[in-house]
Parts: sequence; structure tokens; C-alpha cells
Amino acid sequence: MQSQYDDDSWDGSEYSLMRQFWHYLPVLIFLIVAAAGMYGVYTIFGSAADKPKLDASQVLASGFSAPIIKAVPLKPVAQRLAQSPSPRRIGIISGHKANDPGAVCEDGLTEEAVNLIIANKVVDTLRERGLRTDLLDEFDSRLLGYTGTAVVSIHADSCDYFNEEATGYKIADSLFTDSTALFNCMEESYGTITQLPYHAYTITPHMTDYHAFREIAPGTPAIIIETGFMNLDRSLLVDQPDIPANAIIDGILCYLEIAP
Ligand SMILES: [Zn+2]
Repeated sequence: MQSQYDDDSWDGSEYSLMRQFWHYLPVLIFLIVAAAGMYGVYTIFGSAADKPKLDASQVLASGFSAPIIKAVPLKPVAQRLAQSPSPRRIGIISGHKANDPGAVCEDGLTEEAVNLIIANKVVDTLRERGLRTDLLDEFDSRLLGYTGTAVVSIHADSCDYFNEEATGYKIADSLFTDSTALFNCMEESYGTITQLPYHAYTITPHMTDYHAFREIAPGTPAIIIETGFMNLDRSLLVDQPDIPANAIIDGILCYLEIAP
């Protein structure tokens, strides 16, 4: 005797299969349509390997279009955005610092010491005014390739007595970078503020061929100034170092077009 359970089982199984077919029919239709679509895309656009290739001359000869690939020389990437101006940077060389005493007076006063007092005042004041300023030794390792708005080397002249003409200041500018504007500002400011004469005729190759001019980066204007003679101009350089220091600061501010 067939059980009620068996009959129900057979009928139920058949019913279940049909129900699953209808349930999954949309998925089946979707897969067929998708496969057809992919085949269509493949045949329309095809693979490159299936198509005849034309080289540039054939394309040109066809007269319809320019070659798609043509040789373009390599070019450096151009700066697309204007750069903001670099911050100002001033290098102050304190003459002979950390190298040698420079000129020496009979009483032991050294040019190195005279220069350093003035250079420190210049550096402190420029920093107070918000200018990035480096105090540099005579042969500072930072001088090699130094990049800045200006480099000013501070020296002083001999302590020996020559004659009454041995007074005054002098300036030489870099042979490698046009430093005329810096030179002119310093000459004007230093002469006006110190009231010293310009002592042009004792400018030596030590000044014009100054080592730092060759070491710093091209494009960095540079001058060397002899602030005065340690003999006849001693009271100004030693007793009133604020005056030559302020004169140098004024010359730098003039060059930077900053109001003193
Ligand atoms: Zn010197």
C-alpha cells in the first residue's frame, strides 16, 4: 500500500522543480542577454590584433587623417603655477672670523674683533626686522653655493699709519653676479652716515677677486666693504661701532627697498 506520505512526496517534488524553474527564469534570461551583449561589443570594437594595421606613412597616404603617433621631443615639465617670491636671505661675512686675526694693531686690537662687533650688530638688527640673516665665518662651509638676496662681507683696513690719506671706506662688488644695485646703495648709505671719504684708489685684487664671490651661487649679489682704516678711523670703528653698523644696515635696506 502506497502511503499518503510517498504520494505527497512525488507530487511535491515535481511541483518544486517547476517552481524553481520559474523562480530562476529571469536570471537565465539576464545571463543570455548579457552574453549576447558582450558578444556584440566584442564584434563591433574587436581586438586590435584582428584589424589590419596601418603605419604612420600609410595613414598619411590615405589622406584622411594625421598619424595618431608622432615623435614629440621631450620637454621639461613647465611650472604651471607662479611661485611665491622666495623669502629674503642675507649673508653677513664677519671678516677673518674663525680663520685669522686680519690686520693687527700694536696694542693687540685685531681686525677680526673689530669686524665681528659690527657684523653682530648688523645681523641682530636685520633679524629684528624680520629678515633671515646668516652670520658667516670668513671661510664658512655654507658659502659654497650660498643662495641669498645679498652677501655682504665686512672688513676693515690696516692699523698701520701711512699718511693722512689713509682714511675712508671702500667697496668691491662681485665679478660673477651683477651687484651694482647693492654696491650703489651701500656706497651712498655708508658715506652719508659715517661721513667717511670713499677710498677708491686702494682697492686691491684681494677685494675684487674676493674668494667668497667665487664660492657663493651665481645670481647672489655680493660686495665686500672695508669699513675704515683701523688707524685714523679707529675711534669710529672701535668707540662708535653703531655708526658703521647702522650705515651697513641702511645700505642693505636701501637695496631691499625697505624703508630704514
Ligand atoms: Zn680684512
